[in-house]
Amino acid sequence: MNYKVNEQGFYGDFGGSFIPEMLYPNVEELRQNYLNYIEDPEFQAEFQQLLKDYVGRPTPLYFAERLSAKYNTKIYLKREDLCHTGAHKINNTIGQILMAKRLGKTRIIAETGAGQHGVATATVCALMGLECIVYMGEVDIERQAPNVARMKMLGAEVRPATSGSKTLKDATNEAIRDWINNPVDTYYIIGSVVGPHPYPDMVARFQSVISAEMKQQLQEKENRSNPDYVIACVGGGSNAAGAFYHFLDEKVQLIAVEAAGKGVHSGESAATSALGKIGIIHGSKTLLMQTEDGQITEPYSISAGLDYPGVGPLHAHLFASKRAEFIAITDEEAMTAGLHLCKTEGIIPAIETAHALAVLDQKQFNPNDIVIINLSGRGDKDLNTYINYFDF
Ligand SMILES: *Cc1c(COP(=O)(O)O)cnc(C)c1O
Repeated sequence: MNYKVNEQGFYGDFGGSFIPEMLYPNVEELRQNYLNYIEDPEFQAEFQQLLKDYVGRPTPLYFAERLSAKYNTKIYLKREDLCHTGAHKINNTIGQILMAKRLGKTRIIAETGAGQHGVATATVCALMGLECIVYMGEVDIERQAPNVARMKMLGAEVRPATSGSKTLKDATNEAIRDWINNPVDTYYIIGSVVGPHPYPDMVARFQSVISAEMKQQLQEKENRSNPDYVIACVGGGSNAAGAFYHFLDEKVQLIAVEAAGKGVHSGESAATSALGKIGIIHGSKTLLMQTEDGQITEPYSISAGLDYPGVGPLHAHLFASKRAEFIAITDEEAMTAGLHLCKTEGIIPAIETAHALAVLDQKQFNPNDIVIINLSGRGDKDLNTYINYFDF
């Protein structure tokens, strides 16, 4: 089985580039250039330098001793929560801002739901001194005031999307409209392994630094470069893609964790692999939560970052080919696991990440197994949700 994208942008049956004609020149320009730039030694040197000095990489691979004792297995945490801005998203935005510069673009646009990708984009635009416009649903702007403030402080303009449900999907439509209208000077930074080819492959390559470091760090600590398991949460799937990337062709069990919300069949869920059917979202053919007549279903999860009705095409392929095991975790299971990590290891995880941690309560591992959990982000942004949930 092949888990890399093919010439046409497909992972098995999933992926491709299903875009309006008007968008074709922009996407084609990127497709023709992205591999040349990524593989260019000068590009790599600049990328690696920024990951080191600005993001703070390599992030530690931390042996969680007390957590390991509790579950009677060897658990390592890959500390993406220690990245600048608090999560893995910055790995991707650094890569894409360098791509934009190489392509001679001067104006950056992005869409954001909870605001995390908007903040990561505004951050790299400030770093490079480029104009930044972030589209965000009007409802999300109200719900996510601190991230709106962060983006403004970083010099970005936040433009409200006022159509439809006024959330992520509508913000994405606005961003695409903007890109169609500004094809020459504008670059669109997408925040996960979603969108038309080449975005899923490009974003996976930028995030693959996570598993490259895991391999090297595990070799130093355990004298072997492959763990038995890698576990990561999946919204669009970028942190999981990065954590799985260098293990796709290895004998390593991959576990992708989705948000079951209030229960997979409760009607309030974001468990795309369990509920999704093949459809097209954001220019890509993938698994998608939709009604009988193909309308996208509004997803729900307590964690804003997993609250996405689709999944990137790589993950649809990993699911369909059974290369990865998909587990859905409820709000309650995630919140409990998140709080448990706080008390056991002194680390407050993002609620997205807490879903990955909850797998420890669902699945039995052997004492000698090496289990790496990708700690995608820190919980500072989720403090209010923790406070309200546990009544602190
Ligand atoms: C955005 C986010 C996610 C979900 O996005 P992916 O593209 O699936 O990685 C997961 N964890 C954190 C901390 C996030 O900010």
